[in-house]
Amino acid sequence: MSLFRRALAQHRPSKVARRWVFVSYDQLSAEVGPLSREDPRTLGIVVVECPEKAARRPYHKQKLALVLANLRHFALEQAGRGIDVRHVVAGSYAEAVASVVQETGPLRMMRPAERELRVELAPLVASGELQEVPHEGWLTSRSDFDASQSGPPWRMDAFYRHVRRELGVLMEKGKPVGGRFSFDVENRRAWHGTPPAPSPPRFEPDEITREVCDLVDERMSRHPGKLKPEALPATLKDAERTWRWAKRSCLPSFGPFEDAMSTISRGLFHTRISPLLNLLRLPPARVVADVAAMKTLPLSSKEGFIRQVLGWREYMRHVHEATDGFRRIAGERQRAARAPGDGGWKTWTGRAWKRGRGGDGGSLVSALGADEPLPPAYWGAPSGMNCLDQVVKSVWDDGYTHHITRLMVLSNIAMLLDVAPRELTDWFWVAYVDAYDWVVEPNVHGMGCFGVGELLTTKPYVAGSAYIHAMSDFCEGCRFDPKTTCPLPPLYWAYLGRHRDHLEGVQRMRLPLAAESKRTPKQRRDDVRVFEHARRLLADGSELRPDES
Ligand SMILES: Cc1cc2nc3c(=O)[nH]c(=O)nc-3n(C[C@H](O)[C@H](O)[C@H](O)COP(=O)(O)OP(=O)(O)OC[C@H]3O[C@@H](n4cnc5c(N)ncnc54)[C@H](O)[C@@H]3O)c2cc1C
Ligand code: SF4
Repeated sequence: MSLFRRALAQHRPSKVARRWVFVSYDQLSAEVGPLSREDPRTLGIVVVECPEKAARRPYHKQKLALVLANLRHFALEQAGRGIDVRHVVAGSYAEAVASVVQETGPLRMMRPAERELRVELAPLVASGELQEVPHEGWLTSRSDFDASQSGPPWRMDAFYRHVRRELGVLMEKGKPVGGRFSFDVENRRAWHGTPPAPSPPRFEPDEITREVCDLVDERMSRHPGKLKPEALPATLKDAERTWRWAKRSCLPSFGPFEDAMSTISRGLFHTRISPLLNLLRLPPARVVADVAAMKTLPLSSKEGFIRQVLGWREYMRHVHEATDGFRRIAGERQRAARAPGDGGWKTWTGRAWKRGRGGDGGSLVSALGADEPLPPAYWGAPSGMNCLDQVVKSVWDDGYTHHITRLMVLSNIAMLLDVAPRELTDWFWVAYVDAYDWVVEPNVHGMGCFGVGELLTTKPYVAGSAYIHAMSDFCEGCRFDPKTTCPLPPLYWAYLGRHRDHLEGVQRMRLPLAAESKRTPKQRRDDVRVFEHARRLLADGSELRPDES
């Protein structure tokens, strides 16, 4: 018997009639839902481990350990409160639930955040074996989203202003504190070493966490990524410690350096709380309330952070639900298109993980027709571009990088190479410790790839080398010179030229397209040559060099 099962068996819940709740792997909180209100001595919970789900995709080892260690600690924490805990290991969540309802009667469940789990459990909801109640971890409702928009297309700033007013967050007498809803324009400083960036907290793994790490190491040894038990917040105490660290050490400088990137500090002043928010180990409502109440925090940081959690995070989730992860928007075009599915994630070619086609992933077809494979550089093969190689290394080291590296390096370069959005989305899904379908699909396919056009953002976030050069130190260690030999500027011009027809209707692309139209025919031919060359070499797993392109 595992250490965890032995520890759980030591709790002997009283033999009374209980009302049972199914708690999914990403709802590990007693601060919201039935667990927050009802007497623990009258409650039972069912928690499920599903090795099949873990093996479905080549998830980063750190993510597997994070989810499993938190699930097990949560089970023990709840048993410690007097709740009867049923821990089930099964081939699927549906099988696990079906196996216990015979004994417990129908289970209540907060509506799952992940579409994949909702789909799997839908027949049990239909049969009444699972009784769905609202997911109380969200801060806003679908009616907030609908009331804030006249679209589609949808816009985050309209949603954000609406929910700030509705919830009264950072509002004074009906007006935004500081006179503006957003201080984004003040939050664009590069970081040159001051103030010093904080080191993320380190944790002492207990025997339950160590057992989980051993299990991942042994049974999931083929999965990519480094497993770092000391970087794993596994208990409620670890989550609280991470949040205290974030408030004390990150938030005071969060705003001004929000867009900066650095090789010296990979996370800079970002809080690293997304994995804990997405598992509900930290409830978003508390996080927002805590920050709103921080009296000495500069407004640019306070507003900047609240915009991320109350604005972007909630907005992305609504976009995902409203479109069923974009599966609902494109109808026949999507079905007819050549699109890979979720199946066949089994093959490691030596340079990259490959999947088959089929399954239901056919939703994410690119509005711009991008359908190139993801280069092996994203799996760790050197590309020669220091920005890409540094960020990819961080991903496989930590399962985490902050927002700007995700957007302006990983997604930007993939977009410049016309990588299929589904390929990039699935890569993010497996590579990041905070990735679940509801958050990864809108962020990567929608924002990172401009895969649904202007549906949720106003423009594609494409750039040459100027942005990366200005906002990071990546170029200092690169074999390319950002102003002369770097492949990103010609890739950028080639992208604009190639997608001109699609982008002409996009208001915020008018200036870039006007600049592109001033390129000479020779410059244009050279841009296309760099694109073809980079695409071929990177697809092959080869490195780019300055003298070649
Ligand atoms: C291409 C791409 C892929 C992304 N994939 C994910 C993902 O799989 N999971 C994920 O949680 N976030 C994702 N994001 C959003 C964002 O990058 C991460 O939430 C953030 O980097 C997490 O690090 P942090 O906790 O240090 O964030 P901080 O910078 O400290 O921000 C605080 C919190 O704001 C929230 N937040 C900010 N922006 C977003 C957003 N666009 N969507 C959702 N939440 C947001 C997060 O919960 C985050 O923890 C993605 C963004 C992009 C551009
Ligand atoms: S020079 Fe170009 S490729 Fe190299 S790090 Fe800078 S932007 Fe990236």
